[in-house]
Amino acid sequence: MAAAATHRRTTTPEAAVTGTYHVLIVGAGFAGLYMLHKLRGLGFTARVYDAAGGVGGTWYWNRYPGARCDVRSVDYSFSFDRELQQEWQWEEKYATQPEILRYANHVADRFDLRRDIRLNARVESAHFDERLGRWIVQMSQGDVISAQHVVMAVGTLSAPKLPEIPGIETYRGETYQTQKWPHQPVDFSGKRVAVIGTGSSAIQSIPIIAEQAAHSTVFQRTPNYSMPAGNRPNDPAAVAALKANYPTYRQAARDSFFGVPIEGPIKMAVEVSEAERTAAYQAGWDAGDLVALVGAFGDVLFDKAANDTAAEFIRNKIRAIVTDPAIADALCPCDYPVGTKRPCLDTRYYETFNKPNVRLVDVRKTPIAAIAPAGIRIRQGDADEEIAVDAIVFATGFDAMTGSFTRMDIRGVGGVALNDEWAGGAQTYLGLAVAGFPNLFTVTGPQSPSVLSNMMVSIEQHVEWIADCVAYLRDHGYSTIEARREAQTAWVAHSNELGARTLYPLANSWYMGANVPGKPRVFLPYIGGVGPYRQKCDEVAAKGYEGFTLTRSSHPTDTPTREVSAHAT
Ligand code: NAP
Repeated sequence: MAAAATHRRTTTPEAAVTGTYHVLIVGAGFAGLYMLHKLRGLGFTARVYDAAGGVGGTWYWNRYPGARCDVRSVDYSFSFDRELQQEWQWEEKYATQPEILRYANHVADRFDLRRDIRLNARVESAHFDERLGRWIVQMSQGDVISAQHVVMAVGTLSAPKLPEIPGIETYRGETYQTQKWPHQPVDFSGKRVAVIGTGSSAIQSIPIIAEQAAHSTVFQRTPNYSMPAGNRPNDPAAVAALKANYPTYRQAARDSFFGVPIEGPIKMAVEVSEAERTAAYQAGWDAGDLVALVGAFGDVLFDKAANDTAAEFIRNKIRAIVTDPAIADALCPCDYPVGTKRPCLDTRYYETFNKPNVRLVDVRKTPIAAIAPAGIRIRQGDADEEIAVDAIVFATGFDAMTGSFTRMDIRGVGGVALNDEWAGGAQTYLGLAVAGFPNLFTVTGPQSPSVLSNMMVSIEQHVEWIADCVAYLRDHGYSTIEARREAQTAWVAHSNELGARTLYPLANSWYMGANVPGKPRVFLPYIGGVGPYRQKCDEVAAKGYEGFTLTRSSHPTDTPTREVSAHAT
């Protein structure tokens, strides 16, 4: 850790400030939109900044063919407004990216949010000025904002990652990244297309790309567990029945483990008969519901023997679908437990490998040696084979959960950089705050349920907790709140301890930071369950924000005005 970097002070002069707010919100995805709405309702001034050209966060960027959410649309939606949830009609069981983006835009319009959102503006730095007790935030388009609080609503899968393959820059054909897909449709007709990666994004896009392309080659490093989504138009009668019961249903989601209500008692896979196990897995498979399959029994994510039963059930499905046994074998995951890398929902993914113009390259057996100007070279024993392609699709994932933070220059007390704080692994208190970074909140941050949950449920919970907290500070005359280091250390230890009891550490997943070379191997999300986690957060608040230090104002100018400068936009 470089001392100079650790103690560098903010260099942004106060005079450069173009706007002053109670709260600056980074990110115009669902978290940022709701945060703005909530804060406004409490009488705070707030502004949202986002690097994108529109609202929607992850759903703005991830426009690849076949992009859908794999949490049911009636679950993956806001519950905070009764009329919104009643009036919005989801077309399909699993909403497509365009539909979710329309929903995000609808929310922005319905609650008149756009007047406080600035787009095409990336946060370059956020420095806590101890003298002022405020954050000074510098944007790429020139705005400099002074805010009492900063809410990082930056998403968990927002920092795309290209693979470390030699020669990548020499390729002369078309290249695409699933996470930054063009806004115009891409036509692969008649082309030879390579897809690198077999995570959720690849598994959704490969069948559609392979429908169009003359020839497709899929480069797989680790096979995934996937199951058919069984997507279909929503049944209006079923949706109406659910909506009639929405308050109860939503409450059950908030109290649940994954943020989606699961019906019925939870049994253990190892304690029931094989027939009962298979029937339960088959029911999850038929329902096209990941939670129903992986969560069919209480021990699947905790006990290897139990997990093996679910894993083998899926492998048998793959063997039954894929006609060539060697290809089926290559597509079967066998070296990590199901659920410990994010499992996928698909539409005819495994069937795609029965097509004569689709080739699977197992890069563990035949590694990618390099990307060449006209294709991809793989190593076959002592020789190389060059696979000529007209286009390469990189579906190679994200620097998950921390990448969107560490790409900004965030400095807290004493000029300490968040990058240095997290050099040994991300540490937060409740996934909501970081010691040494007063008045900075993280929505669905590391050590919160976030990516192990229905994100909408977790986003709503964090936004409401943060809004209540900011209002509490105002109403009780406090100007700053900061996580206490010992509380943070205890929370991280608790989160790690729960993680260690599960099977998650057995996989090289992005949950563990394992997909980014050099990233500390730490289990990033909190696996204690959405309901119990909410209870803990509520208890912390009820005890006057236990584990935080609250400080009364020593700054006479703490009440922000909306704008202070003529050139603020
Ligand atoms: P991902 O799950 O991280 O998948 C990246 C893929 O690229 C993996 O198969 C990875 O292999 C491969 N890869 C990376 N570097 C490589 C290299 N050098 N050579 C060969 N292969 C390489 O990323 P993603 O598919 O974008 O999904 C990320 C997350 O976003 C998901 O897990 C999910 O949480 C979310 N998501 C959700 C949905 C949905 O709701 N339906 C859709 C898309 C994404 P390894 O596994 O060996 O690292």
